[in-house]
Amino acid sequence: MIVCKFGGTSVANAEQIKKVANIVKSNPARKIIAVSAPGKRFGDDIKVTDLLIELADAALHNGNVVQKLQVVVNRFKEIADDLGLDNTICEVIAKDMQERIAYDKSDEFVFIDNIKASGEDNNAKLIAEYFNSIGMPAKYVSPKDGLVLNDPPERTYALPETYDNLKDLANGEEIVVYPGFFGYTKDGTLRTFDRGGSDITGSILAASVRADLYENFTDVDCVFSANPKVVNDPVGISEITYREMRELSYSGFSVFHDEALMPVYKLGIPVNVKNTNNPAAPGTKILPTRTLTGRPVTGISADSNFSILYVSKYLMNREIGFGRKLLQIIEEERISYEHTPSGLDDISIIIRSNQLTEEKEKRIVSRVKEELHADDVYFRHGISMIVIVGEGMRNNTGLAARAAAAISRTGANIEMINQGSSEVSLVFGVLSQTENQILRALYDEFFAPITVG
Ligand code: ASP
Repeated sequence: MIVCKFGGTSVANAEQIKKVANIVKSNPARKIIAVSAPGKRFGDDIKVTDLLIELADAALHNGNVVQKLQVVVNRFKEIADDLGLDNTICEVIAKDMQERIAYDKSDEFVFIDNIKASGEDNNAKLIAEYFNSIGMPAKYVSPKDGLVLNDPPERTYALPETYDNLKDLANGEEIVVYPGFFGYTKDGTLRTFDRGGSDITGSILAASVRADLYENFTDVDCVFSANPKVVNDPVGISEITYREMRELSYSGFSVFHDEALMPVYKLGIPVNVKNTNNPAAPGTKILPTRTLTGRPVTGISADSNFSILYVSKYLMNREIGFGRKLLQIIEEERISYEHTPSGLDDISIIIRSNQLTEEKEKRIVSRVKEELHADDVYFRHGISMIVIVGEGMRNNTGLAARAAAAISRTGANIEMINQGSSEVSLVFGVLSQTENQILRALYDEFFAPITVG
């Protein structure tokens, strides 16, 4: 059995939804589909989720709710009309939206989540309706019946009982159309995942029903070895391991949400990233293991908006508990960190900048100075992380030297180097203005055509 997830561009309009129907029809093993809210139909179009965020904001801050609500309702109406559905589904959607707008606004986060989630929820209802109208028996299933999430403020994740609750989801005759992106806490409060979180829903469904395959349909033929917007015509990846994909999607490969692999990874369920606009293309397979090819590097990703907290103290290495106390301060500010490269007398903590505020920074710096008696403490911003990933990198001598030499040829400075003990990734912290140049240099170094002979 196959669980499929169709992303925003795959369900952006009637034409795309017809492609989805054809894909589902072409293989009876495709029994469950998770869907996103309608995404972009063209370059500067606005995703329904973004329209909904604007709507929620208008409702909370005396904006033009009527007009913003109408834009969303019209978007669904256009899709329904173009699919030849009668007005009933549009009435259902309009009523649902009115109800959500009238919800209690005392907890802004809950209110916003409820509005945001309506994009996937109503799209799932609409798609199920369309499938039925063309003779494909289908049913919309609400996450209310089983997708149980943890409570805030922790990052959203599914509680273990979810997998049991949903295990029989595919037992009926109909195709299950399931909205992505949200679930409910134990007390029945709706919560969304991070942006792009429908990938996570699909993975939870695949794990729950022990699918043979999780197909993630998007708008590219495969995952590329580097960002095609920066590197000219990068090599496509046909097979990649969970671990490689995790490393790459964490740092900028937006094609697949970095948290989405966890549920399927635990059960070894393979994932196939495919293109709704070209379903015959084999796509990229994400697998527990893969056959190694001649190239040690599978992909190179880059992500900006990192900050570094530098801390130095003479004889730091002798001081028992220094690292723990430092990380405790970070924890007390409810900040998660990415890397902690260290020297004898200094340590750097790499943090995603969006977690920091001026106040938090000031508090951290003064606490580290006062409580840990550090000699020097400061933050630096505008840092990018460039990550070179490949199972073939393990035990491959000279790879770090090749990477550093390629970077030095661009004239850019390396702010930080980190290699995880698994040796499948090598991370460079660089100034963001040098990111693209470095990405291209590294790509040329590791992906130059292999010459045989
Ligand atoms: N619609 C949501 C977003 O735009 C979730 C998703 O599409 O996965 O982020």
